Amino acid sequence: MSTLFGLNDVRPEALESARIAVLGYGSQGRAQALNLRDSGLDVHLGLRPGGSSWKEAETDNWAPVSVETAVVDADVVVVLVPDMAQPSVFESVVAPNLKAGALLLFAHGFNVHYGLLTPGTEVDVALVAPKAPGQRVRHEYLYGRGVPALLAVHQDATGRAQERALAYAHGIGSTRAGVLETSFSEETETDLFGEQAVLCGGVTELVVAGFETLVDAGYNPEVAYFECLHELKLIVDLLHEGGLARMHRFVSDTASFGDVTRGPQIVDSHVRSRLKDVLTEIQSGAFAREWCGEHSDGAHQFKDLVKADLAHPIETVGQRLRERMPWLKEAS
Ligand code: NAD
Ligand code: MG
Repeated sequence: MSTLFGLNDVRPEALESARIAVLGYGSQGRAQALNLRDSGLDVHLGLRPGGSSWKEAETDNWAPVSVETAVVDADVVVVLVPDMAQPSVFESVVAPNLKAGALLLFAHGFNVHYGLLTPGTEVDVALVAPKAPGQRVRHEYLYGRGVPALLAVHQDATGRAQERALAYAHGIGSTRAGVLETSFSEETETDLFGEQAVLCGGVTELVVAGFETLVDAGYNPEVAYFECLHELKLIVDLLHEGGLARMHRFVSDTASFGDVTRGPQIVDSHVRSRLKDVLTEIQSGAFAREWCGEHSDGAHQFKDLVKADLAHPIETVGQRLRERMPWLKEAS
């Protein structure tokens, strides 16, 4: 069993008077920087002058500086630029300015794990990976709660890597929900697997395939949309709140019977063996090589595939139905 740290395990003093440089102000950067500031920590934003987030940061009452300036005096440097941009940002502006004994922090182990970025031995290297999109990291914090996070230490030059990373996780609110100790390889491989096989790839493919099956059989696209997409959230909420037990408690017996008898026919041995294939490609580094290659070639294929995904009739149907429920836009 992994260690699960909570409010009683953290020493917030570990970051007392520490200067924290947050690089990037996107999904995670904005949420984490705001939470850290509200927790009373000394936060500085390092951004590209003229970059897309600079104005937004000013609106949130930050005085952003260049990445170099933010890194020079920092005791903690949090790399929250996109994964594909991290190696070049690290090489060109972070590494030359990083002071010995600093803590270099990531929110995902991708680049360190696959050897795309190699920090010097004089710094601590750790990750604090919130298990939620940035918007949720901020939302929960504002409610006095937090999102769970994974914590891993890759390199401990000072002997203080773990306690500082845990104090950081505390600053973003995650000790309220639990901080689970892991390794860079476990965080990276399971995170990629989750998003590819279950959370993003698996779920959306199942939703679309279910929708197409109903529409092809002559049912109304609107009805198919409600069944296969809209109601998904209601089931996921039950799972999120109380696992399988809560879902079975709240759906009808007919639904429960259909679940336990038909579910395994859908996710059968073929699907399970493909899940293993996807995992193998992640573990071998084949997926990482493919994604880096695609990105450095201009990501044309990637953009075309997303475009095709968004051209699906489920999108047109959904847009029309969601217009009647404007409150959905406000939900996080
Ligand atoms: P994002 O794309 O939302 O934001 C990236 C930010 O970096 C933007 O402010 C952008 O302007 C800036 N940026 C882009 N290129 C830059 C460059 N060359 N130099 C300086 N700044 C640059 O990114 P994100 O989704 O917040 O991801 C950041 C990290 O957090 C990644 O490691 C990601 O894997 C991890 N993570 C993300 C989520 C999530 O839900 N989005 C969840 C957990 C972990
Ligand atoms: Mg998909």
